[in-house]
Amino acid sequence: MIARRATLLALPALLATRRAATAAAWRGEPAQGALLVGRAAVGTRLALDGRAVRVGPDGAFVLGFGRDAKPEAVLEVAPAGGRAEARRLSVAPRDWQVQRLEGLPGAMVTPPPDVLDRIGRERAALAALRKVDSDEALFADGFDWPARGRISGVYGSQRVLNGEARAPHLGLDVAAPVGTPVLAMAPGRVLLAAEFYFLGKVVILDHGHGVQSLYAHLSRLDVAEGMAVARRQTLGAIGATGRVTGPHLHLGLNWFATAVDPQPLLPPVQG
Ligand SMILES: [Zn+2]
Repeated sequence: MIARRATLLALPALLATRRAATAAAWRGEPAQGALLVGRAAVGTRLALDGRAVRVGPDGAFVLGFGRDAKPEAVLEVAPAGGRAEARRLSVAPRDWQVQRLEGLPGAMVTPPPDVLDRIGRERAALAALRKVDSDEALFADGFDWPARGRISGVYGSQRVLNGEARAPHLGLDVAAPVGTPVLAMAPGRVLLAAEFYFLGKVVILDHGHGVQSLYAHLSRLDVAEGMAVARRQTLGAIGATGRVTGPHLHLGLNWFATAVDPQPLLPPVQG
């Protein structure tokens, strides 16, 4: 009798937890560097570690976890007309490679003083773009490879340039000959098409909800800022502009200021 009473008392809490579990679901598992594309019941409100997450009119949403994300995150799920439930997410840790690059021009490892202003301006421009939160969920149908080539650098690796430790590599490098077309990973809008000191000729696409892809070291730019681009539309071509040791595409993927790993989101075979 007592056990039965306890079960009945626990039932409302259990139902609320189940409702929260079905109110928001996503593909993949939380991990360092992961971008999780999900779907929530219409009208659900979400917050990750206290920060509101945009939910589209059809329920599309996305969550990102940085390279150094802590082992646990809290997702608040508030179903329409329901009580918010806090879901604890285990964020899987990852191991990172160490990548040593030698023979870089000294000016690229330690920039000369006269370009520091330029670098500062470009860094500020990138930080401002990372705040763009547009409402179309153009990321929801997944991503395609932007170019075919050899993977010459992976996300998260610790970089040692000419023997000096530098910030980790927060993108995926695809090495291919200069002129190899670079395609949009998903439909988007061109936020940036410019030439930067480190990134060389670079394109950033906005895929909505803070999801942005970045294509750097291009030999040419085939798009202009403000343009809408289709999936697999040519953005430019692989080059060796900016800080490089040879021609390759540096592909970046961000969720706002958080750089995530593009590779797990790409099809297993390049195409
Ligand atoms: Zn790179």
